[in-house]
Amino acid sequence: MQNEQEKKLSKLLEDNVIRSAGYGPICPYCGSVSVLCHSIVVYDDAKYPPVWICTNYPKCNTYVGCREDTYAPHGTLANEGLRKIRRKVHQAFDPFWKKKKMTRGAAYERLAKLMDLPTKQAHIGLFDMAQCKQAIEIINAGKFLDSGTT
Ligand SMILES: [Zn+2]
Repeated sequence: MQNEQEKKLSKLLEDNVIRSAGYGPICPYCGSVSVLCHSIVVYDDAKYPPVWICTNYPKCNTYVGCREDTYAPHGTLANEGLRKIRRKVHQAFDPFWKKKKMTRGAAYERLAKLMDLPTKQAHIGLFDMAQCKQAIEIINAGKFLDSGTT
């Protein structure tokens, strides 16, 4: 049974579909397909890039935004807990390259090395819970700037 709030959100999703199911990633939590929607569905604002949302939303509160000016998902679909911890990793990690201590590419390369991951997989949008925790630990322990300052 759906309550009023869920009905409202389902309707909001329906009304804001840009591209219907069949193109986007499968939800890793419930196995449903995702649809591409305007950002207003999850952000209360239409100014952000579009979002791939699990069609089981809002029961399954899972989505991922698109890369700027594309319909390509910016990583994997994430539930609330994973979105929250990914934001924490960004808060800890992004200053290293945003403050120009190194390039973004070099920062990700170093993170990959410290996490023992192929560089291609060392992107916060691809991290699961455990990898997010590992990344935060590495940064908090001060290992990030210590390692191989070449
Ligand atoms: Zn789902």
